[in-house]
Amino acid sequence: MLDDSRLKVVVVGGGTAGWMTAAALAKLLPSRADVHLVESEAIGIVGVGEATLPQIRGLNEKLGIDEADFMAATRATFKLGIEFCDWARSGDRYIHPFGTFGSGRGEVDFHQYWNRVRLEADSVPPIGEYSMAITMAYMNRFAHPDPKATGLESTFSYAYQFDATLYAPYLRRVAEQLGATRTEGRIVDIELDGESGNVLAVLLESGERITGDLFVDCSGFVSLIIGRALGEPFEDWSQWLPCDRAVATPCSTRTALTPYTSAIAMPAGWRWRIPLQHRTGNGYVYASAFTSDDQARSDLLEVIEGEPIAEPRVLKFKAGRRKRSWVRNCIAIGLSSGFLEPLESTSIYLIQAAITGLVELFPEREIAPVDRDEFNRVIDREYDWIRDFLILHYYATERSGGPFWDYVQNMRVPDSLLEKIELFRRRGRVMKRRQGVFLDASWVAVFTGQRVLPQSYDPRAGLPPVSELIQKMAEFQTGIREMAEGMPDHRMHIERYCPMAEAA
Ligand SMILES: Cc1cc2nc3c(=O)[nH]c(=O)nc-3n(C[C@H](O)[C@H](O)[C@H](O)COP(=O)(O)OP(=O)(O)OC[C@H]3O[C@@H](n4cnc5c(N)ncnc54)[C@H](O)[C@@H]3O)c2cc1C
Repeated sequence: MLDDSRLKVVVVGGGTAGWMTAAALAKLLPSRADVHLVESEAIGIVGVGEATLPQIRGLNEKLGIDEADFMAATRATFKLGIEFCDWARSGDRYIHPFGTFGSGRGEVDFHQYWNRVRLEADSVPPIGEYSMAITMAYMNRFAHPDPKATGLESTFSYAYQFDATLYAPYLRRVAEQLGATRTEGRIVDIELDGESGNVLAVLLESGERITGDLFVDCSGFVSLIIGRALGEPFEDWSQWLPCDRAVATPCSTRTALTPYTSAIAMPAGWRWRIPLQHRTGNGYVYASAFTSDDQARSDLLEVIEGEPIAEPRVLKFKAGRRKRSWVRNCIAIGLSSGFLEPLESTSIYLIQAAITGLVELFPEREIAPVDRDEFNRVIDREYDWIRDFLILHYYATERSGGPFWDYVQNMRVPDSLLEKIELFRRRGRVMKRRQGVFLDASWVAVFTGQRVLPQSYDPRAGLPPVSELIQKMAEFQTGIREMAEGMPDHRMHIERYCPMAEAA
């Protein structure tokens, strides 16, 4: 029988992870959790993380957040996918879209037909020409999808690009309205129970002692509880994801307000360009083994398309994750649990996945080891899946002439990724996953974009005559172009729907 006593949950840290967790627990488990958050304004938050995945909309909906209000407050734009420039070869360009290729319906995946035409006809347009999201993205158009419709308007999804420094304060308002409380102050020590090893309290510089039943470590890279106090080991993945720094600087917007994030290859990594309503976010993610901070800073400043509006800031990190995210009565969420570089905007998604796991497995007064193990298994699966997906971008490249790119294309990658590549190379098959992030279309986009092309196709795609496929594909292409042309310009849509609040 469910033990219905309330637990005091202490959330340590008030960045995106902390306030997302506080808001979600206060909203979704009001009868089970009293939520108290501790944060230090002097330490501050990491303050980057501007690009998201469509799953964030699900959480916002659950929290009862009004989209237009949220977008205005965080100066957000819409995001239909991520554009990769110069990744497989210099001059290459493709988008990983939020949506399907083709109609997304039917027994056989669209890419299998495309693949057959590629192998058997004289030429075939890039697969991106058959994606509604990509077509809209390159035309700078946006309209909301209609998931209930059966036509093209249901074949794409979207996420947001927003000002990360405004997101946590926005969530704080939501969480506090839902009853979460907060203490400001620097934590200087963690008190553990001598017998069980459980966390008993956090001790503040002011002398205050905050006790709790459950502690959620959202303290960022310092990993105050799970790392420092509980000593949970960190699994280092930098042999596969060697980028360990980023230099970030926002600039004025001179380019079009694109409804997509760009990730452009650089000598020792890549750079992001994220257009927001009031500025463009830029950052060069690089491997310190292959370039210096000074070189990275000057390489970034040379290529950004606008006037810098803040001093470039260097951030240091390491790819990997804590061996376990839930240890004793502490659950690590956000950067304290791990970090995979921002190439596919996955950190906020991982925060959300951990929150979902915590809500679903929220403990009774006694924590059942089986619940904790299940949580850790779910989080491991998410990290491993994303890790392989990210490595693919680097490993499947034909770029040459630079030590960084030579390293990544020759490194020994996890067997789990080699298997996925082999499976796709043979007949275009994507390893199946029913839910979570990066389902079939994501892998198809990145495989084909990185020039990993199948040698054959699903036998069922061999049934229709090739001429019929070519004709149907051409009709589809015309259909999505016409529909995109009828949509509003991205900037105009934002100006009407969610113009930014002057003082957010
Ligand atoms: C270069 C870079 C680019 C990124 N881009 C993206 C992106 O595009 N998309 C995406 O989803 N994610 C991105 N991320 C990740 C994203 O920024 C984080 O996942 C997100 O901001 C959550 O951070 P956090 O809340 O875990 O940590 P933080 O923001 O660091 O918050 C930590 C909190 O803990 C508090 N704290 C720490 N120590 C103490 C103490 N001793 N006492 C009291 N309080 C304390 C701090 O004050 C703060 O409130 C990026 C990260 C980096 C480094």
